[in-house]
Amino acid sequence: VIIRQIPAWVTSTNAWLAAESRGGRAVLVDAPPDPKGVAVAIADLDVTLAAILLTHGHVDHVGGSGEMVRRTGAVAYVHPDDDFLTYDPVTQLQILFGVTIPGMYEAPEKVHALEHGQRLELCGIDIGVVHTPGHTPGHCCFHVATEGVLFSGDQLFAGSIGRTDLPGGSFDDLMTSMRERVLVLDDETRVLPGHGPETTIGRERRHNPFLVGLDRTGHR
Ligand SMILES: [Zn+2]
Ligand SMILES: [Zn+2]
Repeated sequence: VIIRQIPAWVTSTNAWLAAESRGGRAVLVDAPPDPKGVAVAIADLDVTLAAILLTHGHVDHVGGSGEMVRRTGAVAYVHPDDDFLTYDPVTQLQILFGVTIPGMYEAPEKVHALEHGQRLELCGIDIGVVHTPGHTPGHCCFHVATEGVLFSGDQLFAGSIGRTDLPGGSFDDLMTSMRERVLVLDDETRVLPGHGPETTIGRERRHNPFLVGLDRTGHR
């Protein structure tokens, strides 16, 4: 599996392209509102985009998905608990930037519903859906066990965690998700986050100030 990191838009949100091979099929994790970089990577690897997995409904992660689906015919997936975000980018733009830009960013008309524990077989890649509410109610991480990779979205970053002050966010839920569904993974697992550089579960377990001691005491 070939994995490309493609940061985009004013929020430097990572889109992650995972291809079975050059010239083969690929899965995109998250679709920032500016999909140019993704289109370049797709052309460079000569891949066909088969699916778009959305970690959550924030506009910086889904805003380009409508256009990508129209352009490529890929199938999009998101957790239904984030529908109130996925289908309302205008309100999010208002909260984030104090402006409304109607019609500019959009989710696909049709998306498939993700659920916790689901296994998706996409492009020859076996992907486990890990529902991790907290940053948003429907936030999901995607675990590719065969590659030792976790696409962590805005749940876990190198040295930090997702903010929980936006609508539907819950710090307690995020920490429960972390303890029960993220920190249970092996230390060697590569963590490919929604913003910033990649890291590993072990490094975050030892050095991330939000996580140190979390799995021992259950609290910070
Ligand atoms: Zn987010
Ligand atoms: Zn984000």
